[in-house]
Amino acid sequence: MTEQIPFLSVGSTYTELQPELDAAIQRVLQSGWYLLGGELKAFEDEYAQFTESQHCVGVANGLEALVLALKAVGVEPGQEVLVPANTYIATWLAVSYVGATPVPVEPVPGTWNLDPGRLEEALTPKTVAVLPVHLFGQPADLDPILGWAKAHGLKVVEDAAQAHGARYRNRRIGAHADAVAWSFYPGKNLGCFGDGGAVTTDDAGVADRIRVLRNYGSRQKYYNEVKGHNSRLDEIQAAVLRVKLRHLDAWNARRKALAARYFSGLQGLPGLGLPGLQAGAEHAWHLFVVDHPRRDELQTCLAAEGIQTLVHYPIPPHLSEAYASDGSWKAFPITEAAAESHLSLPIGPHLTESEVDRVVSVIRDWCHGTG
Ligand SMILES: *Cc1c(COP(=O)(O)O)cnc(C)c1O
Repeated sequence: MTEQIPFLSVGSTYTELQPELDAAIQRVLQSGWYLLGGELKAFEDEYAQFTESQHCVGVANGLEALVLALKAVGVEPGQEVLVPANTYIATWLAVSYVGATPVPVEPVPGTWNLDPGRLEEALTPKTVAVLPVHLFGQPADLDPILGWAKAHGLKVVEDAAQAHGARYRNRRIGAHADAVAWSFYPGKNLGCFGDGGAVTTDDAGVADRIRVLRNYGSRQKYYNEVKGHNSRLDEIQAAVLRVKLRHLDAWNARRKALAARYFSGLQGLPGLGLPGLQAGAEHAWHLFVVDHPRRDELQTCLAAEGIQTLVHYPIPPHLSEAYASDGSWKAFPITEAAAESHLSLPIGPHLTESEVDRVVSVIRDWCHGTG
C-alpha cells in the first residue's frame, strides 16, 4: 500500500512535546483556578513580546477576536467594513456580528491578498474600517493599506489567524494596525487543544476595552459597564500555548524549508501556478496553495497516491448560502476563479522532506501527462 501523506497532523505536536504539555496541564488542574488567572496573564505577556506589540488580550476564539477588535476600534451597526472577497467566512461574519456590512474587495492574483489599488472604488460615506487578512500566512501589503486608511480616517484591523510568526517590513505581525486578531484553533501554526484566540495592539485603550468586553462587560464583578461577551481564553489552553509558543519559530522554519523545496521542485510546470511572494513580507507558510485550471483532476490524482490536499476555499463568502439573502452581490471574477483553481498541498512541521519530494514527483508526472 502507498504511504499516506496527511494534510495536517495536530496530534503530532502533542506527541513531540508530551512531557512538557502534560506537566503544564497538570499544573493548571492542580491549581484549582481555571479562568482569568496566572497562565493567561503569562501567555498574554509572552505573546505580546513575541508579536512585538504592547498588549495582548486572550479571548475565546479567532472569530471573537475579530468581533471584539472591531467593537474596540469603534465599528458600529449600519457602518461598512472593507474585507477581502476571498477569505475564510469568519472575517465576514465578524463584521456582520457587530451589525456592520462587509464590503468585498478583490485580491492581487498570486499573493491572493487584498489589493490596495481596489480600496478606493469600494469606499462609501459609510466606510469606517478596513479588515485585511494575511491569507495563507503571508502578510498583506500593509503600508499602502494603512496609508490609504489613514488618509480617509479609517481604522484598520488585521485578521492574522493564519500568520503567527510572519513579518512585514522586518517587524512581526502584531501591531502594525489598530488591532490584530489571532486564532489558536488546533490546525493553525500556533494552536491549542480546543478553541482559543487573542487580540494584540499597541493601543492601551483598545486593549482595555477588549479586556472589559471579554468578561461580560465588567471590570469589577457584578458591575457591568457595557453589554459584554463571555469570551475568555481558559487557563489550560493558555498553559498549552505557552509551551507551544517556545517551539513556534522552529516549526515555522520547517515550514519555510518545505516551501522552498516545493518551489524548486514545482518551478516551470505547464499550467501550474505557484504562490506569489509579497515584497517586504516574511511568509509563515500556514498553507502552500498552488493553482491549476484542472484542479479537481490534480486533486484526484494526488488522492490516488495517498496524498491528502484541501481547497481553501471552495465557496467565496458572497456565493455562500449564509450571505445569499444579504443583497445581490456583483461578480468577483478573481475570487471566483481562484476558488476553482486553488489547491492546498500538505505543509507543516509533521512532514518530512522525502514526503514533500514524493508530492513533487506525483505533481511533475501529472503535469507532464505521464501520471
Ligand atoms: C481560522 C480563521 C478564523 C477564525 O478562527 P476561529 O478560532 O476558528 O474562530 C478567522 N479568520 C481566518 C482567516 C481564519 O483562517
